[in-house]
Amino acid sequence: MRDCGRRCVYCGAWLEHDHATIDHVHPRARGGITAYGNLVAACAPCNRLKGDMLPHDFFVRYPLAGMNFLLYARVVHRALKRGARRAVSLALAA
Ligand SMILES: [Zn+2]
Repeated sequence: MRDCGRRCVYCGAWLEHDHATIDHVHPRARGGITAYGNLVAACAPCNRLKGDMLPHDFFVRYPLAGMNFLLYARVVHRALKRGARRAVSLALAA
């Protein structure tokens, strides 16, 4: 929580403790692990919206979420950040 500046990493909304959820950036259903570097704080609506989408698909579809992710997700794996940056520029170029 503290690591993400107490904001939802996808929409930037301020998170009260009881509204915050933990999201697996690489979804568990797709083989993502529950470990530091793959976990971020997200609001419930964003978590639901993302569902089991792979981060790349999610960020191509919602580039704004990708930009927020780059801004707010401080402790995720560098590969996830690189992927997000690529997805955002792909979406913005389209
Ligand atoms: Zn959100």
